[in-house]
Amino acid sequence: MAHPFDLAGKVAVVTGANTGIGQAIAVALAAAGAEVACVGRTPAEETAEQIRALGRRVVLIPADLSTIAPVQQVVDTTLAELGRLDILVNNAGIIRRADAVDFTEEDWDAVIDTNLKSVFFLCQAAGRYMIGQGSGRIINIASMLTFQGGICVPSYTASKSGVGGLTKLLANEWAAKGVTVNAIAPGYIATNNTAALQADESRNKAILDRIPAGRWGNPADLGGAAVFLASDAAAYVNGHILAVDGGWLAR
Ligand code: NAP
Repeated sequence: MAHPFDLAGKVAVVTGANTGIGQAIAVALAAAGAEVACVGRTPAEETAEQIRALGRRVVLIPADLSTIAPVQQVVDTTLAELGRLDILVNNAGIIRRADAVDFTEEDWDAVIDTNLKSVFFLCQAAGRYMIGQGSGRIINIASMLTFQGGICVPSYTASKSGVGGLTKLLANEWAAKGVTVNAIAPGYIATNNTAALQADESRNKAILDRIPAGRWGNPADLGGAAVFLASDAAAYVNGHILAVDGGWLAR
């Protein structure tokens, strides 16, 4: 019997795979057997090397997801280059920090467009194909701010709360068509995205004091959750938002 977490023969699309959480998830999926299309603005050369070293095929698809212009081409190129599309990980995302009273329309639109609008339309483009083949796995990267308010990040909180709702809506519509839609909510993970927080001594201490695990997460901490949700083991997991947070939400 095949191992329930085996992704051999599957093709995954991972957005924002050049660094941080996206890179770790792309490599974890490849380690579990998947071939990977790494989608993003910055070519994911280092990620591709790691995936090739695991003996898997990889393609790099250039796409700026601040608009939805490239989403159909992402799906088409994946199918043309790798022949299938089984797993979509919507990871690319940005954050803008400012007090709510000073927050600009530019910072609102930039974050909502990348973190929410492009996520929906990439789900739609991939979902249409997956529904046609009768199977698929979509994993959206949510946040602690899918559950909590946060501070000084209004568009980010709105976008990630939206990702949570969207994940459940799509799960409801597509569960009976063989397509599962779930999310991973990372806790505080040491990446470029959180560099400002890590550098702020008092915020860093406040964060660490509240994490039961007593440390920032590493991008690799997200790999197992992604492999699980992408695998046959998660066939009956629909619309779930899986926190990988060192216990932050339990506190
Ligand atoms: P990161 O190191 O800043 O990586 C973000 C990724 O998104 C990069 O690959 C980046 O590409 C890509 N991206 C941003 N804008 C893009 C665009 N317009 N088009 C294409 N790609 C774009 O941050 P990270 O921490 O790994 O974040 C990954 C995801 O996890 C995000 O959705 C983030 O909100 C979420 N998250 C992170 C944490 C955390 O603690 N780190 C916690 C909760 C959720 P470039 O390098 O080209 O900019």
